[in-house]
Amino acid sequence: MQTSLPSSSSSNAKPEMKEHCSHRKDCLKMIQLILDGEATDQQLARLKVNLESCQPCIEMYHLEKEVKELLTKRMEKRCCPEQLVATIKSKILRFS
Ligand SMILES: [Zn+2]
Repeated sequence: MQTSLPSSSSSNAKPEMKEHCSHRKDCLKMIQLILDGEATDQQLARLKVNLESCQPCIEMYHLEKEVKELLTKRMEKRCCPEQLVATIKSKILRFS
């Protein structure tokens, strides 16, 4: 499998909180995997490290999680406020 991203080797650098994520698509993909419960332990660990230094991804993670929970509730009870989902979805779109 090939990725278009160059593999950076910044190992000992202290993580700085980034205001802009340069790898949103990767992050989003990983976040969705994790929220779907399909991520490996390795992916989980990677995302955890990333979330400690990446502000946009932290927000994205929480938004995705909210949507997921809302959708789950909706499937269970069929009483999810659509407006809320739409609002959150539009926020997520800003990230991708
Ligand atoms: Zn990120």
